[in-house]
Amino acid sequence: MKIGVLALQGDFIEHIHALRRIGVDASEVRLPAQLEALDGLIIPGGESTTIGKLAIDFELMEPLRAFGREKAIWGTCAGAIFLSKDARREQPLLELMDITVARNAFGRQVDSFEVDLNVPALEAVDPRGTPYHAFFIRAPLIESVQKDAQVLASLPDGRIVAARQGHWLATVFHPELTPDDRFHQYFVEMARAA
Ligand code: GLN
Repeated sequence: MKIGVLALQGDFIEHIHALRRIGVDASEVRLPAQLEALDGLIIPGGESTTIGKLAIDFELMEPLRAFGREKAIWGTCAGAIFLSKDARREQPLLELMDITVARNAFGRQVDSFEVDLNVPALEAVDPRGTPYHAFFIRAPLIESVQKDAQVLASLPDGRIVAARQGHWLATVFHPELTPDDRFHQYFVEMARAA
């Protein structure tokens, strides 16, 4: 099992550390050839417009789409935007996952916050089902899911913050910034099954 982390911009190193903590082989991806032999790919948080522009410069757009048609991809925050079909503005997107996102959806006053989420899907990796403490940093929202995309977690007011569609996962918060590795374990299981 080997998982790559797109390392063009953003907090990729924290994902590498989380994967190594759970005993998974992890590597940084900057070139199309580095996608070979991977079982899954994480696209980190950062700035989605910058990640998109760099992906074009590094000739990664088509290789990433081809990879994603076959294998597991998880986008966190900016990575979730990049993975989506629609960010309701002009910017380079992989246009894989049938979700519509709204960037910087939480405004300035509360552009960073923490909240406990109820995520039943994580019981697949830990049956205790304890709440998941999530960090939001200038986060987008998942406005809606389409086709067979499913909601995995919502805020208490119903706004969607995590979704899955087959072997694609999107979270608008930052699991790489907590010591709770359940989302990384969950994604590794997705990659194993894909
Ligand atoms: N606001 C960023 C964007 O729109 C995402 C922030 C993040 O990844 N923490 O790309």
